[in-house]
This record gives sequence, C-alpha cells and structure tokens, in this order.
Amino acid sequence: MTKFVDAHVHPPVTEFLDGPIAPYIAGLRRYLDDPIEAQSAEQLAEFYRSRDAKAVLLGWNSLQTSGYRSLGNKEIIALVESAPDVFYGFGAVEPNGGAGAVAGVHQAARMGLAGLSFHPAAERVAPSERDGRQVWETAAEHGLVCLIHTGFTRLGAALPGGGGVGLEKARPIHVDRVAAAHPELKIILAHTGPLWLDEALAVSVHKSNVHICLSGISPKSMSPELLDLIRGPLHDRVHFGSDYPFGAPDAWLAEWDSLGLPDAITRAVLVDNVTALLAR
Ligand SMILES: [Zn+2]
Repeated sequence: MTKFVDAHVHPPVTEFLDGPIAPYIAGLRRYLDDPIEAQSAEQLAEFYRSRDAKAVLLGWNSLQTSGYRSLGNKEIIALVESAPDVFYGFGAVEPNGGAGAVAGVHQAARMGLAGLSFHPAAERVAPSERDGRQVWETAAEHGLVCLIHTGFTRLGAALPGGGGVGLEKARPIHVDRVAAAHPELKIILAHTGPLWLDEALAVSVHKSNVHICLSGISPKSMSPELLDLIRGPLHDRVHFGSDYPFGAPDAWLAEWDSLGLPDAITRAVLVDNVTALLAR
C-alpha cells in the first residue's frame, strides 16, 4: 500500500539543475547548506519506491524570462515513463507564449501528463495575467490540474537582488481571480503562500476548486488556524509535498507524526486527497 504521495517534487536531474534553475543553484546550495547533487531518473524512482511512495514530478518553463532551457512536457513525460509505477508528471508551458503556451497545454494532455506546474516568481507572470491567453480554459477542458507556486521562494534567495526574482507575482491573491473565472479548473496553491499565508488560506477556503499543497511549511510551524482548517473545511483539499530536493520528505513526515493527528487525517493528507485530485 502506498505510504505517501509526495505531490511536490522538482526532479534533480541534470536537465533541471543545469537548465531552468542554473542561475540560482549556487545560491540555493548556499542558502540550504545542501550540495543538491544531480540524480538519475532511476535513483529518484528508487528513493520513492523504497519508501512505498509515489512522487509528482514538476516541470519548469521560464525560458522566455530567464533564457535558460526548460524542463518541459517532453522531459517530464520521459521521466514518468521511466518509472510509471512511482511517478506522476506535471508539465510546463511557455510563460508569455500566447498560442505557444496553449499548444503546450494541448501537448501535455495528449502525452498523458496529469497536470501543469507554474512558478509565477520565476516566470515573472502572475496567474491572473494569463487570463487572455486561454491557458486556464484549455487546461480545464483537458482536466489538467494546475499547480501554482505562491509566496516566498528560495529561488534567488541570498543573492543580490534575489537573482532578479520578484516576489509580488507569487501573491496568492493572483490565483483568486483565476479560480473565480474558471470554477471547473482544479488548482493547487503550492507552499501555502509564505509571506501571505492569510491570503492563501482565504483563497482556498473560499474557492472549492483550490487545493493546498503543504510544501514549504514544516508541520511544527503550522499555526493553530491552519491545523483547524486541515481538520475542518480543507480536510479533503490539503495534501503533502516536500519540494524535494529543496525539502526533505523524511524529516517532514517525522515532524508530522509528532503532531499526533488522527490516522484518518494523516491518510487524507499523505495519500487520499491528492490521489482523488489526480484521478480523471
Ligand atoms: Zn516547488
């Protein structure tokens, strides 16, 4: 039986470390005090398989804003196909692409990817700024789940000027308009919007098509309000993600266990909620 689904994994393959996050990787290693070494697809699959776990692999496309090549639909589906017993895949489309971005959404669906990943701070495009480009409408038509990073990012952290990464585009309130305009679109608000936790929680409580990924927040630092929401209004719309390799699933899970929450809540957060979200 699957013990957990890590719903937020940035595959640390060479194509990612030398690709879209190449400008930031030295800063990330310093900031996290972690070498963040490259892994093969096989090593990554084994990491999760050995824990009776599954992983949602996230693509990244900030090509037009950073100039660094993307970890796009093709790269993600290749990883998924290398270990389909372990991996789900979320592709990525051009941030400013117009027709190109919409074509990318169609391509992701054709390839059998489960969703799409967006990083507004890195892409320098707020979710609400994509409204005219039919990206959200097309994703909803295909039933693709859209994960949107929100709040503080370690990308560019501890670099002069944050490596040029502005935080404002990642405000959770920018997700609110998208969720309102596309009620049929399944959205994951990732990282609970640190800096703007209240906003993130308000958007997710208010819009039932918005789910919360707990990546980026350690269980011991969860506020009583957040824990009440996990037990209550968000009980079927909140799930675990580690942000691997920038976060450590084992440490997060050990902290979560120490909270002593009922087994039913743990099972929902670690497995059932995201499994239901990805079923289509
Ligand atoms: Zn992430």
